[in-house]
Amino acid sequence: MFRKKSFRGGAHPHDEKRWSADMAIQEMPLPGTVIIPVQQHIGAPADIIVEKGDAVKKGQPLTKTSKFVSVPVHASISGTVAAVEKRPHPFGTDLTSIVIESDGNDAWAAEPVMNPDYLSLGTDKMVQIIGEAGIAGMGGAAFPSHVKLSPPADKPVDTLILNGVECEPYLTSDYRLMLERPDDILAGLQIIMKILGLTKAFIGIEANKPRAIALLREKCAEKKNIAIVPLAVKYPQGAEKQLIKAVSGRSVPSGGLPMDVGCLVHNVGTAAAIYEAVAMGKPLIERIVSVTGPGVRKPRNIKARIGTPFADLIEFCGGYTQKAAKVINGGPMMGIAQTTIAVPVIKGTSGILVLDERTAAGSDELPCISCARCVDVCPMNLLPNHIAAFIEHNRVEDAQKMGLFDCMECSTCSFICPAKRNLVHYIKLGKALWNEAQKKTG
Ligand code: SF4
Ligand code: SF4
Repeated sequence: MFRKKSFRGGAHPHDEKRWSADMAIQEMPLPGTVIIPVQQHIGAPADIIVEKGDAVKKGQPLTKTSKFVSVPVHASISGTVAAVEKRPHPFGTDLTSIVIESDGNDAWAAEPVMNPDYLSLGTDKMVQIIGEAGIAGMGGAAFPSHVKLSPPADKPVDTLILNGVECEPYLTSDYRLMLERPDDILAGLQIIMKILGLTKAFIGIEANKPRAIALLREKCAEKKNIAIVPLAVKYPQGAEKQLIKAVSGRSVPSGGLPMDVGCLVHNVGTAAAIYEAVAMGKPLIERIVSVTGPGVRKPRNIKARIGTPFADLIEFCGGYTQKAAKVINGGPMMGIAQTTIAVPVIKGTSGILVLDERTAAGSDELPCISCARCVDVCPMNLLPNHIAAFIEHNRVEDAQKMGLFDCMECSTCSFICPAKRNLVHYIKLGKALWNEAQKKTG
């Protein structure tokens, strides 16, 4: 039998895509209020250029940056700036946000207009447009896309991979995007290839999405330079290093970046956003979000404005079921449990998962039985049991020497552990303790 490409380690949580996979993308009604955190990306914060009382229009920049590793945020509705203050953020802290009350007009600052000659734009101009449009990785990492598209001269990229894996259980936003907007994704891919001067690209998709694989193959039938690569259904197949290994066979070194092995990975949603920015001048003001799980009445895939409160999306999906117990930003493996649904959709919000009492129930931790299953599944070849034990016994330096910072917090080890050890909790704690100690020692 044909063996699908994959990587070493990993696990097989039930994919739970059934809740929302067949739900076509629906557009949310215009929200009354949006809360736009200034920091939604990895990198330097941008400076706020509006104040309370200002009238703003859709697509208008709210922040400005002169730093390279940074992106601005834009108004996602027209209205009035009601506040610039700290508000709860899906990452679990309160962060400075710009709150806009809608004027009901949904008026653009500059309406996007199709430029039929967009592929004639210079590559520097394209990169500039992508940065100014505020595009940051929409698979969740939120790294500024224009930075990824500017590799240094000594790290040439020869392999481009679009990530359509969506290996997190429950989430289906990328799947629906591939089914409903394949041409936008492919147009974005073409722009990225032009910027990097590449003649060949791959789109990696897990084999549990046969309709998406078939559709993109059909669309690329005439494009011999784009290969659709079906991948084994295994978590975390969509993690950058694991995807690169599966598609290209190359291994990103410890502490290294994909460009160290000549690779670049972009999410399919990011490609579609790049197309809209370069071809139409549209900034990143909305995204597809799966609202799913047994705790929500009508699971859906929603096109939502950035800044829309989770509460509005959950209400749009019929509200909670009677046994709803836990709301997560993202999926069950790498997502973050929320203490309030006043938090807004941000650029990296691919899903809002609502678990019920049964699926949210945790188990008490038992002592480690040294079965080494966590070691077998760790896709980064780490020893999660030993790293966690060092941290538990306050030996963070020993954990650091064992590769603490190579851990990508994928939770595969915690998922597989028969003793229900929350290994990722210890690892996150260890990283925080290490960083704190480094700050103190200067
Ligand atoms: S140690 Fe880190 S990288 Fe390895 S399985 Fe656990 S969470 Fe994933
Ligand atoms: S899987 Fe759990 S019980 Fe087994 S070695 Fe790892 S931490 Fe210990």
